[in-house]
Amino acid sequence: MGDKDKRLVLLTAELGKISVLAKGALGAKSRFKAISGSFSYGEYVLSKGNTFYYIKEGTLLESFYGLRTNLNRLSYAAYMCEAAETFSLEGQENRELLRLLLRGLQAEEKAEKGMESVAADVMVFRMLAENGFYPELGVCRQEGYRDDKKHDLSKPVLFFPGNGNILCAECANASFLNPTGNENASYQGGVWLSSGARAALSYCISQPLSKAFSFKVNEEVRVQIHEAVSRYLQFQTDHVYKSLTFLNRIDGSFT
Ligand SMILES: [Zn+2]
Repeated sequence: MGDKDKRLVLLTAELGKISVLAKGALGAKSRFKAISGSFSYGEYVLSKGNTFYYIKEGTLLESFYGLRTNLNRLSYAAYMCEAAETFSLEGQENRELLRLLLRGLQAEEKAEKGMESVAADVMVFRMLAENGFYPELGVCRQEGYRDDKKHDLSKPVLFFPGNGNILCAECANASFLNPTGNENASYQGGVWLSSGARAALSYCISQPLSKAFSFKVNEEVRVQIHEAVSRYLQFQTDHVYKSLTFLNRIDGSFT
């Protein structure tokens, strides 16, 4: 903003999302330089103006430097922040979301090559689950309607980003395959999840936060999780994520 000032969006424990002006932060010798960069986590002393808060002073607690050493990590970290920003409300306390974002950024900093999407997907899926969009991954949605069948969840299931439900393979095929065979089956926007992908998604929303990020997946599961979670987020928030569009464009180029 202007020549030297910088407008920041802070996710705070006490006030949720707030807009803050760091006066002179773009100046070469600004004392706000360290605490006004992307992904900076710190303690901030603010004063309230008419439109903005102003930074008076601040202490950097964590710069997440490891995110800057790799474009994929950086991009998925930006995606996490954009998702958190979309989901948080101005002035409304949300300590859980801040804790989750910090854990997510920590996990992303250590992400292995090619696996950078996983921490972001765990963070986003958990954020959705904790804020009114808890998915139903443990039961076929036809259970109770079609008790003539066994709803076998050890096989792949079809996940619906529109409502967070699943269909077992048999019910999915019975509902969406045309009578002549596989052709033209669109599965109504569903995403197929292997039993490994379904287990990983269930795990990351049911475990305590300290354990939510500690699992490993193979490439097939990684891709399925990313497809399911990013579509679930976009569907539930009805928002276009700039960082996700960017990621889809560079996908594979930097691995
Ligand atoms: Zn079923």
